[in-house]
Amino acid sequence: MAQHSIPDVQSEQFEAELHGDLIRPGDADYDSSRAVWNGMIDKQPALIARCRGAGDVISAVDFAREHDLLVAVRGGGHNVAGTAVCDDGLVIDLSEMRGVWVDPDAQTAWVQAGATWADVDHETQAFGLATPGGVVSKTGVAGLTLGGGIGHLRCKHGLSCDNLRSVDLVTADGTFVTASEDENPALFWGLRGGGGNFGVVTGFEFDLHPVGPEVATCLVFYSRDRLGECLRAYREYVASAPAEVSILALVGVMPDEELFPADAVDETKIAITGCYGGSAADGERALAPLREIAEPIADFSGPMPYVEYQQLFDADYPDGMRYYWKSLYLDGLSTSAIDRITYWSDVAPSPLSTVDVWQLGGAIAQVGVEESAFAGRHAPFLLGVEANWERPEDDDANLEWVRDCLDDMRQFSEGSVYLNFPGFLEEGEDMMRSTFGPTYERLVSLKNEYDPTNFFSLNQNITPSGRARAGDGSTS
Ligand code: FAD
Repeated sequence: MAQHSIPDVQSEQFEAELHGDLIRPGDADYDSSRAVWNGMIDKQPALIARCRGAGDVISAVDFAREHDLLVAVRGGGHNVAGTAVCDDGLVIDLSEMRGVWVDPDAQTAWVQAGATWADVDHETQAFGLATPGGVVSKTGVAGLTLGGGIGHLRCKHGLSCDNLRSVDLVTADGTFVTASEDENPALFWGLRGGGGNFGVVTGFEFDLHPVGPEVATCLVFYSRDRLGECLRAYREYVASAPAEVSILALVGVMPDEELFPADAVDETKIAITGCYGGSAADGERALAPLREIAEPIADFSGPMPYVEYQQLFDADYPDGMRYYWKSLYLDGLSTSAIDRITYWSDVAPSPLSTVDVWQLGGAIAQVGVEESAFAGRHAPFLLGVEANWERPEDDDANLEWVRDCLDDMRQFSEGSVYLNFPGFLEEGEDMMRSTFGPTYERLVSLKNEYDPTNFFSLNQNITPSGRARAGDGSTS
C-alpha cells in the first residue's frame, strides 16, 4: 500500500460523511486515540476514523481503497503485536461501537465489534447467561473471537468462535455481508479462527449458556519447592477432570506484598486457577484436589460472582506497560517439559513475567478440525510465555528470554502456535503454514475470494495468491 499524505479537501469530504470523529495528527485526542494496550507500540497513523456503525465502516473502507491507504482495524486495542494501529495509514477504529443486546429467551447476544468482554459479561450476566470470552475482561471481543478465544469456560462451552451464530462484516470492496452456517458458510468457516483477514466485523451473534451468577473458583499459590510436584498433579488432575473445569497454571514471581507472606513475595511460585462452569456446590468439590497438592503459600479459592472472576486478572495487565508474548501448543506435559518450564521461569528477567500452561481439550476438541479454521483443537495444553516489564532499557533481555524459551520448548510441540498471542508480526508465512497445515490453502482460497489485494494485511496474515507477504515490518 502506498503511504502518502491525503489531500485535506478529500479527508474533509470523508469526515463529513462519517457520523463518528475523524482524528488527525495534531488533534487534542490524537495521542490517546493512537495508543494501544502494549506500551511497546508507538505508531503514527495519518487518520483515525472513529466509526459509529456499519455505515461509517463502509465509508472508511471505501475511502482507504480509493486512496490506496494502509489499513489497520481496531477492536479492543489489546493485540499484543499492536496490529490495531499503523504508521501513515487509516485506522478503522470500532472502540465506540460497544453495544450488547441480549435475547434471554433465545439465549443469544448480539455484540458490536468494539465491545470488550466486560461489556458482554455485564449484559449477559444480568440474565444469568454467559458466552466464553478471555481471562482478562478489558480485552476486545473482536480480535479474540476471530482468532479463536480461550477463556475460563473453554472446556465446557468451547472457544469464543465456537459459540458464534453469525457475523456481520464489511469486505474489502465495501460490501456488507452476513456469514453464518446458512449464509456465506465458507466465509463463516474462515472467520472462526482465521483472524481479521476477511473484512471489518461490525457485529457478532453469540450463543449464551446459563452460568453463575456465582461460580466455584480456584486460585491457589504454591512455592517454588513444590513446582514440579504441582505441575505433575495438575497434569494428572486435568486428565480426568469433569468437563466443567478449565484450568490455567501460571509460573513466575508475581510479586505482590498484599497477597503473599513477606518471605514469598520475591520468590518464584505457581498459581493454579480456574472456575467451574456448573453449580457452585459441585464446583467446590471438583476443584478441591487442586487446593490440596501441598501446603499453599496462599489460597483465594471459593465461590465468587462470575463477573468478578472474569475481572480478577485485569489489574495484572495495565495499559501502557511493555509486553512481548509467544505461545506453542504442547503435545503433553512430560517430566522433561516440566523441568524446562521450571528452568525458564527461574531465569525470567522480569518478576512480572510468567510461563503459563493452559488446559485445552474438552469442548474445544469435540468440534471437528474441518468445521472451522481454528488450528489448535488437537493439543492437550497451550504454553504461553509472557514477558511483562516496565523499562525500555530491559527490552532486549525480555525479548531474548521469550524467544529462547520458545526455541527450547519446541522439542515438546509439533510447532504450531495460538495466533492471538504472538508478540510481533515477525513469524511470517512459514509459521502460518505450519500452524494451519492443510487448512492454510483453504484459507488462501477464501482470502483470494474476499480480499485478493490483501487490503486487510495488518494481522496474522493469510497472503492471497501472487501477493508479497504484507505487514508494515517495523515491529520485528
Ligand atoms: P485489537 O488490537 O483491537 O485487534 C487485533 C486484530 O484483530 C486487528 O489487527 C485485526 O486484525 C483484528 N480485528 C480487531 N477488530 C476487528 C474487527 N472489528 N473486524 C475485523 N478484524 C478485527 N486471548 C485469548 O484467547 N484468551 C485470553 O484469555 C486472552 N487474554 C488476553 C489478555 C490480555 C491482557 C491481552 C492483551 C490479550 C489476551 N488475549 C487472550 C489475546 C487476545 O485474544 C488478542 O490480543 C486479540 O487480538 C485482542 O483483541 P482486540 O480486539 O482487543 O485487539
